[in-house]
Amino acid sequence: MSLPAGVPSQMFVGGEWADGSAGTFEVLNPSDGSVLCAVPRAGVDDVQRAVGVAADAQRDWAATAPRERGEVLRRAFEAMLARKEDLAFLMSLEMGKSLTDARGEVSYAAEFFRWFGEEAVRIDGALRTAPSGANRILTFRKPVGVALLLTPWNFPAAMATRKIGPALAAGCSVVLKPAEDTPLTALLLAQLLHEAGAPAGVVNVLTTDRPGELTETALADARVRKLSFTGSTGVGRMLLKQAADRIVNTSLELGGNDPFIVLEDADLDAAVQGAMLAKMRNGGQACTAANRFLVAEQVAEDFGKRLAEAMGALRLGPGTAEDTQLGPMINAKAVEGIADKVDRTVAAGASAVLGGERPDGPGFFYPATVLAGVPRDSAAATEEVFGPVAPIISVRDEDDALAIANASEMGLTGYVYTGDLARGLRVCERLEVGMVGLNRGLVSDPAAPFGGVKQSGLGREGGYEGIDAYLETTYVATAW
Ligand code: NAD
Repeated sequence: MSLPAGVPSQMFVGGEWADGSAGTFEVLNPSDGSVLCAVPRAGVDDVQRAVGVAADAQRDWAATAPRERGEVLRRAFEAMLARKEDLAFLMSLEMGKSLTDARGEVSYAAEFFRWFGEEAVRIDGALRTAPSGANRILTFRKPVGVALLLTPWNFPAAMATRKIGPALAAGCSVVLKPAEDTPLTALLLAQLLHEAGAPAGVVNVLTTDRPGELTETALADARVRKLSFTGSTGVGRMLLKQAADRIVNTSLELGGNDPFIVLEDADLDAAVQGAMLAKMRNGGQACTAANRFLVAEQVAEDFGKRLAEAMGALRLGPGTAEDTQLGPMINAKAVEGIADKVDRTVAAGASAVLGGERPDGPGFFYPATVLAGVPRDSAAATEEVFGPVAPIISVRDEDDALAIANASEMGLTGYVYTGDLARGLRVCERLEVGMVGLNRGLVSDPAAPFGGVKQSGLGREGGYEGIDAYLETTYVATAW
């Protein structure tokens, strides 16, 4: 399958399309393993040039009226909706997600431009009176500067707009490096932002399949003042160490191992419906994906059966086919990883009540899988699976569920299903996570603060909090 007309396949630097000085690399279609196109591989000199133009553009951008910065984002929001079908098709093509998921992502991703376009005119300071009554404490806020944005492949549009939106609203310029598996969506976004009036140099996109070289060069450059990364905890930890050398302001959105708790008084129909969203959106390739189903022993078997029925009914197929409900995984390595975790969990004593066997190629497919009787220390219970696999662990009670949930080093999202709201809120308070879905299987909302605790990250994106990551506070001590 070929690329839709008008999709850029060059890098975007200083308002112009450019080749890379280190050659090219191929982008694959995960639905059949074929090559979609080649894109530039940025060299060290490209990185330095992108940082240079971003630094030059940032001064004027920061001085641009907040209303005008907001209007650029507003126009980009509208442009994304006008190109919704193109963007959705492109994401399905390069990432493999179903068209339904892809359309949902375009709407979600565009909202970050609208939300932060509105926030651009609400960046305020404060005036306080010191406790002594003699002095005044005046604060104002200014943009951090040039931001290096690194995004994963699973939400190629939303992870980019969730960073570009607040950065541009705050008056920062950006150098975005999308994941090597899905660079094309980011390039199309750069084109839309350019058409929406983002001045040359404010938004730059570099593509590479050698991310380490790019980030080392950028983080060593004194002009880069901000790093915002979404991806795996392992890479996030390494980048945090690199950022430490120059104390670069750092935000991290990392991996999860999200518990989905079903208490014995839950409405099981609602819980299964929520589980389908929390588990199967994006084929289970979401950081917010339910990874461990902790189900009260009284209802565990029934819940497992109903979930297997719902998951088993999903149609597996290429992302771009209109009737596909479960597309391929991102690449062959991802399929290997999922199969390995399922096999180790079954060897440890779990049973596959659905799926568990890889289909023949072409394409990087893994079927919807439900594992019952999952041992608490097995692979699927302790590691992020990142695929359409639902491990079910039966628990004695609320305390037992919380003990297992909180035993993880990760703390991104949790889900709780119960018929008793007060009980549900008590569980929410005790869960060691950044976000909880209470009788809901979807937490993402551009107006909400998204992020994790423990090794799931630092800082929040979206909501009123999202712009803080791109602002510094200056305090003026004064008296009058
Ligand atoms: P990844 O860490 O492999 O890649 C993420 C980004 O880091 C990509 O742009 C990649 O090119 C870059 N990268 C990879 N190796 C690098 C290196 N050595 N140096 C510098 N950059 C490097 O993660 P992934 O597989 O793309 O994404 C899946 C992970 O992301 C999962 O763990 C998932 O939970 C997490 N995730 C988290 C959130 C969140 O908001 N918390 C959202 C989506 C995904």
